[in-house]
Amino acid sequence: MSDDLTRLTASHLAGLLAAGEVSSVEATRAHLDRIEQVDGDLHAFLHIAGDAALRRAGEVDRLRADGADVGPLGGVPVAIKDVLCTKDMPSTAASRILEGWIPPYDATVVARLRSANLIPLGKTNMDEFAMGSSTEHSAFGPTHNPWDLDRIPGGSGGGSAAAVAAFEAPFALGSDTGGSIRQPAAVTGTVGVKPTYGGVSRYGAIALASSLDQVGPVSRTVLDAALLHDVIGGHDPHDSTSLDQLWPSFEQAARAGAENLDLRGIRVGVVRELSGEGFQTGVQQRFDEALALLASAGAEIVEVSAPHFEYAIAAYYLILPAEASSNLAKYDSVRFGLRVTPEGGGTVEQVMAASRGAGFGPEVKRRIILGTYALSAGYYDAYYGSAQKVRTLIQRDFDAAFGQVDVLVSPSAPTTAFKLGAKMDDPMAMYLNDITTIPANLAGIPGMGLPVGLAPEDGLPVGIQLMAPAREDARLYRVGAALEALLEDHWGHPLLDLLPADFGRHPAGADRIVPLPGPGTEPDGGTH
Ligand code: GLN
Repeated sequence: MSDDLTRLTASHLAGLLAAGEVSSVEATRAHLDRIEQVDGDLHAFLHIAGDAALRRAGEVDRLRADGADVGPLGGVPVAIKDVLCTKDMPSTAASRILEGWIPPYDATVVARLRSANLIPLGKTNMDEFAMGSSTEHSAFGPTHNPWDLDRIPGGSGGGSAAAVAAFEAPFALGSDTGGSIRQPAAVTGTVGVKPTYGGVSRYGAIALASSLDQVGPVSRTVLDAALLHDVIGGHDPHDSTSLDQLWPSFEQAARAGAENLDLRGIRVGVVRELSGEGFQTGVQQRFDEALALLASAGAEIVEVSAPHFEYAIAAYYLILPAEASSNLAKYDSVRFGLRVTPEGGGTVEQVMAASRGAGFGPEVKRRIILGTYALSAGYYDAYYGSAQKVRTLIQRDFDAAFGQVDVLVSPSAPTTAFKLGAKMDDPMAMYLNDITTIPANLAGIPGMGLPVGLAPEDGLPVGIQLMAPAREDARLYRVGAALEALLEDHWGHPLLDLLPADFGRHPAGADRIVPLPGPGTEPDGGTH
């Protein structure tokens, strides 16, 4: 029973809880058992709530038994990226400088999970301060990809993605500044959504780059992402950039998408600059097949150009370090966090230097140096100022593209999961991973990643990214749920069913992949 409960989607589990067929204690215990069983291999969690989770689950069970309305997701377990403040668990952003720090308050999104009676299972691993694409920059050691333990789970939110893919949690919260929800989703075969900037509160999310950060859901289905998004989203007076508007029900959008697979009238724009050269063959192939499937459902597929996307990475890696260097200035060893006193004592400056020297990892230091340089008086116009102008040009590219189409698509990431260690000595190679996801952050628009199969050459998951204009997140849920349903009809099961039970010990073989009809596919369905 235990194992079965962990295989259920959040929406399915919520149904069983509501019907009284399963208790929250049983569901929570099943996930904690699963964590116990596999997290030694994965290291998706930095902190496991254990007793607190079971206690809370018991309370929710009692509330339900007393006839209280515990909400549609009451009693369902959830994992939380360690970038989010939780008043009952350490919140470290995977940095030594915050090791053991327990915040005095909950992030708004966490408070909303609690009031919706979800059960926090623990805090998930990430790249330090969310800087990275592989979770290898965590000060507490990397997370492993359940599809192949020698490979990265993506980053920075590799912990949340791996936990969801490996059935340690039905869904999780992530944060996405340049792709940290969508790229881990791509390489683990999960669904991830970066909401419209301002759609979800950033209050209590440990800041990386404030003009880019958004919290969002990670799940195994589009519907589950929508359910979680409905819980965490909406206006928050504690966040001055929070949009004060009413949002439609994303659950309804996802349900409508799954029920109506007729996509006639939907125009899908393929971004020319986000495919082709530099993209792995199998990634491109699965992406093209997904497009063929959308076309077979009646969607109109057109190519659109976004000429300034070629400068997106350069602009992002100036804007992000500039904002990050300011945000990280508060870790001064005085107010909170690690304090290292040099031998024999020292001035305030010396204590601060020693603390920051010991507390921050190499990638964080690299970005602080980059950011302070880009903001320095002599170079501000040349670097930071130019990057902001490029940001505007990218926003205009999106405006022009959305004048022609309803959604834009690209592969979620240029390659499948690479080997742990492969890019650690080459920051530039690591940064290039973000080419597909960064434009949406620079423009503040919503993006969704969902799995479209396994690459024939390595048997690893491939994701498609859907993007919509700002505030049109519901459109992503509708089209995403339709595409997901079309794919599952074709495969006959969800993609994650292919994840071996003893995952990671041997990579999934290409022979287990059902190809889709589409370009490059033989009539008998064989692609290789
Ligand atoms: N990989 C990107 C970076 O290193 C994205 C990080 C993020 O979204 N938090 O900045």
